[in-house]
Amino acid sequence: MFNIAIDGPAGAGKSTIAKNVAKELSFIYVDTGAMYRAMALYLHRNGISADDPEKIAAGCGGADISIEYRDGEQVVLLAGENVNAWLRTEEVSAMASKSSAVPRVRERLLQLQQELAATQNVVMDGRDIGTVVLPDAQVKIYLTASVEVRAKRRYLEQKAKGEKVDLKEIEAEIAERDHRDMTREVAPLKLADDAVLVDSSDMTIDEVAQRILAIVKEKMALEK
Ligand code: C5P
Repeated sequence: MFNIAIDGPAGAGKSTIAKNVAKELSFIYVDTGAMYRAMALYLHRNGISADDPEKIAAGCGGADISIEYRDGEQVVLLAGENVNAWLRTEEVSAMASKSSAVPRVRERLLQLQQELAATQNVVMDGRDIGTVVLPDAQVKIYLTASVEVRAKRRYLEQKAKGEKVDLKEIEAEIAERDHRDMTREVAPLKLADDAVLVDSSDMTIDEVAQRILAIVKEKMALEK
């Protein structure tokens, strides 16, 4: 199998880029953030507090999470129910940011992620894919952008949806999430030794995708 790992902070454009690259190569796109979000939804529905790591560890074993692909889109199932529509709410984002730091939560999702990559060519994005989940991935990308640029992108996205947003507030939220992701004890976000760093601050989506595809094709040629 040929595996591509894309890690990086929130708002760097990982999912958009990973989807484009997967489509171009006819690989499967695996959004691991959505799995953490489905787990968070499960915990939230069961009345578990985001600030209670012990209850999270004790409760996460009951979550039955699986992945399916419908028309090329990843669908996350919680006990068979398609929960995609519930994964992006504020409550779920806040819970996911905290519950993903609980080791037992990570253990459960790790297996599912590794199984997918063992049986299919994947582009998988997340925070610890190149470092923990797929240490032997043929290509590892660390995709980042400055806090200011990531905040501006999110600001424009939300504004376009008609939401009332404050740029400074978004900047502060992003900086706080970066800090949490990078300093947590298990599977912190960091650059794998053999990852290629791509800073998308001054690049378009297409430029980033082309850059990654060039790296992938070079690697594929070497493997032949
Ligand atoms: O990328 P996304 O924002 O959807 O991730 C949701 C949450 O899951 C984030 O808080 C992130 O820290 C966590 N996560 C993780 N490991 C991954 C992917 C996401 O801890 N591989």
